[in-house]
Amino acid sequence: MSAHKIIIAIDGFSSCGKSTLAKELAAKLGYNYIDSGAMYRAITLYFLRNQVDFNDHSAILNAIACINLSFIFNEQTQKSDIYLNEEDVEPYIRDMIISEQVSTVAAIREVRSFAVAQQKRMGRKKAIVMDGRDIGTTVFPDAELKIFMTADPEVRVMRRFKEMYATNPQTTIEEVRHNLELRDYIDSTREESPLHQADDAILLNNSNLTKEEQLEIVLEWVKDRATNVTILNP
Ligand code: C5P
Repeated sequence: MSAHKIIIAIDGFSSCGKSTLAKELAAKLGYNYIDSGAMYRAITLYFLRNQVDFNDHSAILNAIACINLSFIFNEQTQKSDIYLNEEDVEPYIRDMIISEQVSTVAAIREVRSFAVAQQKRMGRKKAIVMDGRDIGTTVFPDAELKIFMTADPEVRVMRRFKEMYATNPQTTIEEVRHNLELRDYIDSTREESPLHQADDAILLNNSNLTKEEQLEIVLEWVKDRATNVTILNP
């Protein structure tokens, strides 16, 4: 009997480890992993490079019409890189300048409609793990497994700081804390698809879990929802 493929939606606050879990889960299940935040980051990069006025409706629409986003699998990182108009923009989209503006850009209705339409198309064949802020509520309201991730704020700050410090030793803990608080605030209070836990999402607080423990817990949830699951590289 062939495996029954499902959609796994992972939402939560910034730097809760969503992408780590999503990537590992996708590798174990042979599913596609889509980092929806990378899409909003790539759009923000385009807006900043082209000095698009965030308050100018027609400038936003014109800009969106010029944006083509795609994901291409990178064998080295075992994760898909995001391409903005045929350019691999992974090296730029995690910079602080993008993190500072991305939540403002992601709150724009036209930007969300553009990204969400593409995300929905990616889920047509199921077998996908997507992480973000509105995946279980808006993108895939019928996802078979919805997870809402959280972790203690200080744990999140230190995780993010270590990540940022590795590429930019000028980064300070204060700067990271401020950025996480600001993004969480904008993401949870915006009008368009604000971040909140879907009624049928399972809450996962991973403050005191190792990556291995959280993966094990979530694989059990997958097995409960999908029949004939094959776990790769056990
Ligand atoms: O996941 P990541 O932290 O890279 O996402 C960057 C930003 O993109 C978030 O802070 C949020 O403003 C926005 N985002 C969103 N909806 C998603 C994914 C990300 O609004 N599904």
